[in-house]
Amino acid sequence: MFEKILIANRGEIALRVQRACRELGIKTVAVHSVADKDAKYVKLADESVCIGPAASNLSYLNIPAVISAAEVTDAQAIHPGYGFLSENADFAERVEQSGFVFIGPKAETIRLMGDKVSAKDAMKKAGIPCVPGSDGELPEDPAKVMSIAKKVGYPVIIKAAAGGGGRGMRVVHTEAALINAISMTKAEAQTAFGSSVVYMEKFLENPRHIEIQILADQYGNAVFLGDRDCSMQRRHQKIIEEAPSPLLAPKIRDKIGERCAEACRKIKYRGAGTFEFLYENGEFFFIEMNTRLQVEHTVTEMITGLDLVQQQIHIAAGEKLKFRQKDIRLTGHAIECRINAEDPYTFIPSPGKIDRFHMPGGPGVRIDTHAYGGYVVPPHYDSMICKLITHGATRDQAIAKMRIALSEMSVQGIKTNIPLHADLMADTAFHLGGTSIHYLEEKLGISSK
Ligand code: ADP
Repeated sequence: MFEKILIANRGEIALRVQRACRELGIKTVAVHSVADKDAKYVKLADESVCIGPAASNLSYLNIPAVISAAEVTDAQAIHPGYGFLSENADFAERVEQSGFVFIGPKAETIRLMGDKVSAKDAMKKAGIPCVPGSDGELPEDPAKVMSIAKKVGYPVIIKAAAGGGGRGMRVVHTEAALINAISMTKAEAQTAFGSSVVYMEKFLENPRHIEIQILADQYGNAVFLGDRDCSMQRRHQKIIEEAPSPLLAPKIRDKIGERCAEACRKIKYRGAGTFEFLYENGEFFFIEMNTRLQVEHTVTEMITGLDLVQQQIHIAAGEKLKFRQKDIRLTGHAIECRINAEDPYTFIPSPGKIDRFHMPGGPGVRIDTHAYGGYVVPPHYDSMICKLITHGATRDQAIAKMRIALSEMSVQGIKTNIPLHADLMADTAFHLGGTSIHYLEEKLGISSK
């Protein structure tokens, strides 16, 4: 087992990984930007290294700075968290070339899955059903593109192959709007992701977002840890996640889960990973694979009793999985609300000083946060400041606990989306078994459909 791990991230996930390491008796190195120098988790780490100014491209995305920090502190492995460098194949490669262990899949796997066109291709070959659409990258010829769209059927969605974080997508309803929409998406994708490659999918009008968590070791063993339903979204970004999905019968879940585990064995996947699907009319359609820990890994932890970060570390250290599929038991129901520093209805970020920070508690309530009273939410990064998770014997119980927890929670000095979560916990459609991915935007009157 490693003696020291460098955590190449910030905020709640840096603290989450640090806790997992401490429990395993592993020393931690925090890297931080100037803006995060006073963060509590930085002080809690065994060592810390400032890797640059506030702007993330100069600090958290600065590969040489992160690797130098690992060198000077003698760390043996690097955990990338989520976001930032976690799905950067060049980073994973540089980490391993510099003699450290990258806690995640091999660089070549990240590269394959990081390009959504090659990921879909690999998944089709591995027997995973995909959203119908263009066969790979869209050609330049407008006549050819129009003929593809006609075959797929409107509405279609144009997506950047290198896209992420819900960005780089555009819905097109008519042939007249197609060519212009493609040029705009290409231009945006080039600026945001450094690649103008786009592809086309059928735009599904009433799907749920359901994903399968998997774990695979370096010896060909792979298991799936149930499913998560992340259909409550705005701007293609999740805000509430739950496990299991209230929609899926266990038999159906097990069937798709086993296919994902089998795909991992086929592509020799290593570590934790997630297969994301849209689910409509009883059919699964693969959209992408995330080759890292996800924000919503917590709900899976609550129903499986497994610590996914520790599992990632065990796998990276070359250990075999200590359980088989039949050993995985899903207990009860878990829900996560992402608490963001933002206006609850316009989603405009609201950084600044938190004057009062009162967190709920009680049985089945989990808080993952790096924030506290007096903490200043920096304007430079993602607006998520806290994850509130509840676990109950049933979905109704998990919702009831969430309603109470949200009513006890108080964050003052900045705006948060706590009122929106409280509304959603009282929403009839949500109670009745969940909603499609478009529901929240329709409810708020900001539909992008
Ligand atoms: P990202 O990598 O940016 O998260 P994804 O491909 O995972 O992008 O898609 C994110 C979200 O965008 C999905 O959960 C869904 O809400 C929406 N979306 C993506 N593809 C489609 C599609 N073909 N039809 C309808 N919605 C889609």
